Parts: sequence; structure tokens; C-alpha cells
Amino acid sequence: MHKDNQALIFEITKEGRIGYSLPELDVPQLDLSDLLPEGNIRQVEAELPEVSELDIMRHYTALSNRNHGVDSGFYPLGSCTMKYNPKINESVARFPGFANIHPLQDESTVQGALEMMYDLQQHLVEITGMDEVTLQPAAGAHGEWTALMMIRAFHEANGETHRTKVLVPDSAHGTNPASATVAGFDTVTVKSNDNGLVDIEDLKAKVGTDTAALMLTNPNTLGLFEEDILEMAAIVHGVGGKLYYDGANLNAVLSKARPGDMGFDAVHLNLHKTFTGPHGGGGPGSGPVGVKKELIPYLPKPVLVKKKERITFEHNRPQSIGRVKPFYGNFGIYLRAYTYIRSMGPDGLKAVTEYAVLNANYMMRKLEPYFDLPFTQHCKHEFVISGRRQKKLGVRTLDMAKRLLDFGYHPPTIYFPLNVEEGMMIEPTETESKETLDSFIDAMIQIAKEVEENPEIVQNAPHTTVINRLDETKAARQPVLRYSKKMTNE
Ligand SMILES: *Cc1c(COP(=O)(O)O)cnc(C)c1O
Repeated sequence: MHKDNQALIFEITKEGRIGYSLPELDVPQLDLSDLLPEGNIRQVEAELPEVSELDIMRHYTALSNRNHGVDSGFYPLGSCTMKYNPKINESVARFPGFANIHPLQDESTVQGALEMMYDLQQHLVEITGMDEVTLQPAAGAHGEWTALMMIRAFHEANGETHRTKVLVPDSAHGTNPASATVAGFDTVTVKSNDNGLVDIEDLKAKVGTDTAALMLTNPNTLGLFEEDILEMAAIVHGVGGKLYYDGANLNAVLSKARPGDMGFDAVHLNLHKTFTGPHGGGGPGSGPVGVKKELIPYLPKPVLVKKKERITFEHNRPQSIGRVKPFYGNFGIYLRAYTYIRSMGPDGLKAVTEYAVLNANYMMRKLEPYFDLPFTQHCKHEFVISGRRQKKLGVRTLDMAKRLLDFGYHPPTIYFPLNVEEGMMIEPTETESKETLDSFIDAMIQIAKEVEENPEIVQNAPHTTVINRLDETKAARQPVLRYSKKMTNE
């Protein structure tokens, strides 16, 4: 029996017990040697568990219960916006008129789907303050890359191929320098100042006629709003560079401030974060990109256009960077985001931001007496504490994250951003109740006290999970995905 009291089917197997019943074979049995090369035919029968249908049902249900998701518990994973995914989104995404259409159907038969996409684009134009939006990119990082390819095409069209550098602050999300590199640029790191914001003097020193763009994550990965954003915009535009806004975490500024109004030329959004698309486990996501007028000719094609009352894909876009995603893109995520935007309305979206920021600040101030807070000004939707104090007592941030599992919480993002020692990045989101926030705060305070009084309990955590501390690198690089008898005997 395992710790969570669920027998694995391999342990309850009984010879001859089966979970299916099929009529006897009344057609000639195929000869496998006609179909498969000899070496591929099994000589000995596979050692599969022999169990009833009910046993196997319980097995998989028990395995699924070992997952932690937003629907099962608090998930304050910084930068990932693990907010609640409203179930009305799921109902709408399953409407047969949407769910059963085929991407190769004639446009005249899918006008409703195209209208939803067109309308979603218009809403995102309004929300970002941009002139046009493409829905194609499949994720945030893909959106970054798409926008950089457009910026590249723009500079090339102006004969400015010497613009090879993309400036990326050290407080940017890690995907920013990666996208710039994949788009063929050299990245230049801009330092942060003591307040955790972009160091304007360092920016001035690094900007030049070889600057293609500045990529700014705002709020930055410390959860701080870049106060000098207008000055930065003026500096970069002053040398002919473009401004890119990483808007993955728009939760913090939605309906309050718009990248377009701050002077940005391009922005990406994560529909699977701010706009409640379910995520984790690798997707599917959606990273629409909004651009200002000058970049419109370079948008990925085809572009959705409205001609009279008909919506159609326009393919004749000679300056386009081309297609970045087949067919319609991740249509199901558009539907969820669209349902969210329409059901919240402008006032609802404003409340999202207010509560996201309020919840983060509430939690930050409650934890401030117990943990080091490297940047003490008000935060936006998330904040970063440091485990420096606890490290001196021999307990690492990793240990505290593991201890949180015993309380039933998904731990925050740890050791990120890199400019905070023993960092722990906490994003409560607006969808959690005060009671949930308080329970998490209590758990964190208890852990801080344990570090002082009984550090072993934290150092050896977790104690209540099915398996204890993993070698995470090994688990990721050499996963053991097949059952073997040896495992249960160990
Ligand atoms: C999540 C995130 C990204 C990357 O988005 P993906 O969909 O994971 O590619 C980029 N920037 C920021 C600030 C993010 O939080």
C-alpha cells in the first residue's frame, strides 16, 4: 500500500481477473509475422496487471488526485497567474457550433467563429491601446518572437540592417532574451537600480543607433511598476529603436494603464494567464500581439478583415512576416478569453486589477516581519521575498517551498528572479478569498517559526506527500515512466 492509502493496480493484481468482456473472435486471427518485422514481435507476454474495471478506474482516479491544480488548492506561483478558470468559459468552448467546426470549412460557413475572433481582436486593441492585434502566436514567448520578427522586418524595410541589438533589463522575464536570440538579435542586458527598477543611466549608456528594440517586462519580475517608463520610451525612440512591452502579466494594469498610451510599439498578452485560459502542463496557450500602425504591414498573415458585413482572411500582405501558426491558432483559448472579457465587462476587468494588487500587497505586508523584503515599495500583482534570514539558520528557500506542500499549497516560484538571493516570488491573484490568503500567511509564519525552533522539520520536508524529496534534475532529465516490480520492492 502506498502512503496515500491507494493500492497501485500492480499490487492488487489477481491472475485471471479481467476488466473487459468481448465476444469470442469469429474472424480469422491475423498472423503478426505478416505485419511486423520479426524483432518487433513479443516473445513473452507482457506482465500486465490483471484487475477489474472498478479497480482500474480507482487506480487512475487516485493518480489524478495526486495532481495539484487551481481547482484543488491555492497556487501562488509567481509570474504564472494561476487564477481561477471560470467554468462558464468551458461551457462556451464546448458549444457544438464552435467545437465541431473544421479548420478547412469554407469561410461562409464559419462566420460566427470568425466574428468572435475579430471581436476578440477589437477588445484586445482597446485593452492594450494598440492599433491592430494578431491572435496567431501560440504562447507568450511565441508572441515575443513574432513581434521581434516584425520589428526586424520594419528596420530592414527602412534599410536599417545595422540595428542588431535588443536591450533587455536584468529584471525581464527569462523568455525575453531567449526570444531576442532566436529572432537573430544580440541581447544587451540593462541593469536594475537599488529600487529594483531599470537603471536609466545604464540604459542611456547602452542605447544607440544599433538598437533594434527595448523589451520591457512591466510590471517587472519583481512585481514592480517601471515608474520611468515614459522616459525610457523617449530614450529608445530617440535613437530610432522600437519599444516592446511584455504584457504577459497584464493582471496588474488591466483597465488602469495601456502599453499603447505609454508609447509602446508592440505588446504580447498571455490569454492563458490574465484572460483565464487554463494552463500548466504545457498548454495550449495563446499569445496575441498588438502593434501600432507602423508595424501593421508586417503582421503574420492571413489577417482577419471585415468587408461589408463579411469577415474574411486576407492573404495578400506582401510585407507580412508570414504565418506563425497553422489554421486558426488555438481557437479554444480565444473562446475562453472572449467569454471572460464579455462576462467581466470593463468594470469587472478593472476590479480584477484592483484585487490582484490589493491581495499581493496585503500578503506582502503580513509576511514582511518574518522574511526579508528586498524591495519595500508597494508591489503590483506579485512580490518577491528573500530567504536570506532563514539561510543563515541553515534552511534554504527550497526547503521552505517543500514544507508548504505539507500544508496543501503549491509553492511559489523560487530562485527567480535571479537578482534576489534565495528569492520566493508570490502571486496570490485576485480570485482568492481573504480566508485563503490568511491561511497561507499563517502557514508561512509557522514555517518561519519552525526554521528558528525546529529546522529539521523544514529541512526534511515534505512529510505528507506520496514521495518525499526528489532529485529534481534527475526526475526531469531521466524520468522513470515505466513501472517495474523492483520499484515496489525497494
Ligand atoms: C509567462 C510569461 C512569459 C512567457 O509566456 P509563455 O506562454 O510561457 O511562453 C513571458 N513573460 C512573462 C512576464 C511571463 O510571466
